Amino acid sequence: MCPTPSGYQSPDDGTGVGYVNAHTHIYSALVPLMTRGLLANGLPTDPANFKENLERLWWQLDRALDESTLQASAELYVAEAQYGQTAALIDHHESPNFIEGSLDVLHDACAHMGMYALLCYGITERNGGAQEAARGLAENRRFLERDKSEFVRGAVGLHASFTLSDESIRAAGELAAEFSAPLHIHVAEDPLDVEDAQQRGYEGVIDRLDKLGALQENAILAHGVHLTREEVELASERGVWFVQNPKSNRGNGVGYPRHLAAAAKAALGTDGWSSLMFGEHAVLMEDAAQAEAAGAIGELSSAARRLITSGALGLQLFPALAKSPATPLRPSADQLTTIQDNAQRAADRLWARMEEMREAPRNKKSL
Ligand SMILES: [Zn+2]
Repeated sequence: MCPTPSGYQSPDDGTGVGYVNAHTHIYSALVPLMTRGLLANGLPTDPANFKENLERLWWQLDRALDESTLQASAELYVAEAQYGQTAALIDHHESPNFIEGSLDVLHDACAHMGMYALLCYGITERNGGAQEAARGLAENRRFLERDKSEFVRGAVGLHASFTLSDESIRAAGELAAEFSAPLHIHVAEDPLDVEDAQQRGYEGVIDRLDKLGALQENAILAHGVHLTREEVELASERGVWFVQNPKSNRGNGVGYPRHLAAAAKAALGTDGWSSLMFGEHAVLMEDAAQAEAAGAIGELSSAARRLITSGALGLQLFPALAKSPATPLRPSADQLTTIQDNAQRAADRLWARMEEMREAPRNKKSL
């Protein structure tokens, strides 16, 4: 049985409301359906280099997304999460060639299928500079202002410190404060993020976010693999949530977040890998056992609290979760078949688009 926080019960005790996935990417759902293409083209499925993995897969994938492929991805991701007893998703979205309105696509899928979701657009400057960040920020603002389903809330997303200027980070912090919305950002997933902040004259990523007004209470910081204990403690004093993503960290070979045990609030997410939280938790406990065997103290007991903290984060965002049915809503078997068929067709289109974009030189209209 999984641990249960106050007011939140895990799905496997027969009375619970479902898991809360504290950091994920709904747009990634079609990747497992593109395996043949990925293997044939030698794209990384087990990469050793973090940046190369981003450039050769994820950043190609997000550039190729359009409305129809994102919708198919969202429906598949939500359905699979529901079949895995997940009741709430904290999503971090990017689709550089389909920014305006992208959060509406995710909203509609989650609202229609009964999935609680915190949605944001992860602003970045890695494709189109400051103008791209401004468009992402405007999408966050538009979504925060619009009427939303009771199942959906808005946050302010930033991709990561290393793909953003000081001005964009500051502006995101101001937007989050204006709407009392959480910030959601990748932090120190790889040493390159730390080195980038230091090259810009900061002590590290936490110092940079803090000085730019983006280390806010209830900000959601994914990864934290390469933070020092002092940085984790400072961020915890500010009231942030950390989110550990063990399968992703393993797959990307970025290391184990040794200091999250010092975090006041550290939850569990899948980072766009399989949406099944029980599988994620199993990997977490394996990694924590290895860390203890290597001399770390308190890792297992700390790791065992990740699901509890995810539940607490979900309940803070969506108090109605506490009154949800014991089994989260989910599509029927027939509906699931339709969703899977749509997703396979969308994955084929998305793969074709990725190949097209790899071959065609970039032009100014295509980020
Ligand atoms: Zn992520």
